Amino acid sequence: MKSYIEDGALVLADISGFTEFVTATAIEHGPPIIAELLAEVMRELSPPLEIQEVEGDAVFALGADRVLVPPARLLHVLHEAFIAFRNRQRELEADQSCSCAACRSVGTLDLKIVAHHGQFLRQMVGDRSQAAGVNVVLAHRLLKNGLAGQRAYILLTEAAVRWTGVDPAPAGLVPHTERYEHFGDVRYFVRDLRSTIGASGSPAGNAWAAHAFAN
Ligand SMILES: [Zn+2]
Repeated sequence: MKSYIEDGALVLADISGFTEFVTATAIEHGPPIIAELLAEVMRELSPPLEIQEVEGDAVFALGADRVLVPPARLLHVLHEAFIAFRNRQRELEADQSCSCAACRSVGTLDLKIVAHHGQFLRQMVGDRSQAAGVNVVLAHRLLKNGLAGQRAYILLTEAAVRWTGVDPAPAGLVPHTERYEHFGDVRYFVRDLRSTIGASGSPAGNAWAAHAFAN
């Protein structure tokens, strides 16, 4: 089996917000809404990232170092993915043609993005390409974190921040440390997107992207 090691960004974009009630009662429109929003996010992520897998309400993508040039481009891509999600969400919300629980709850959905950077192994499993290794595991673990109540955010591990070269504080990135089994203390930075991205994109968001590119 052919496999090789690569360095790059590991990104998970996860849609949350439908309650169990909506999931249970609106099977007809719930999953298609998530799929549509996820597809919108995927279009922004890839290229330059490669979509690795759709995992439930989340998408896993990889960006090899050789394609993310300069590294800070990653921040711009993640930001654009969030904007695309919000815009499509607003369109769906404005459509009043259906009164099922899912269609009425579109506005409660949120997007969280986790980005890590490190080495991973690319391998083939049957005829499918797969990424493996501890960094893949860590990126997935980070979706479960102590940021309760914060539902729209971009979380960058310290490794990702260092790699992009962005200065955390001016970029609105707040440091957190959390303990994960087998990984110990993991330091990461969070950019809360609830308030910063308002009705028409946002000055703060643009400033972030501009800042990222200035580095
Ligand atoms: Zn509906």
